[in-house]
Amino acid sequence: MYTYTTQFTPVRARREVTGTCPVCGKTSKRSRTFEHTINPFNKNPDGTVKSASQVREAVTAEADAWQPDFTHQKCEARS
Ligand SMILES: [Zn+2]
Repeated sequence: MYTYTTQFTPVRARREVTGTCPVCGKTSKRSRTFEHTINPFNKNPDGTVKSASQVREAVTAEADAWQPDFTHQKCEARS
């Protein structure tokens, strides 16, 4: 039996994007922080544990692929 007492190292990527709300046509800003951790279960398809740079690559890819919904909360309620 294995017990992991080590705290997993978080790797974060923050994105802030400005777009247009499809309901009112005004500017809308969205920000989000993505986080992956370097841990023994975070593996590559070949079974090796992801290195710090591979985890950073993965979190960056996820952040770059993020497609936010620019609809304002108040506009969403109206539509
Ligand atoms: Zn709006």
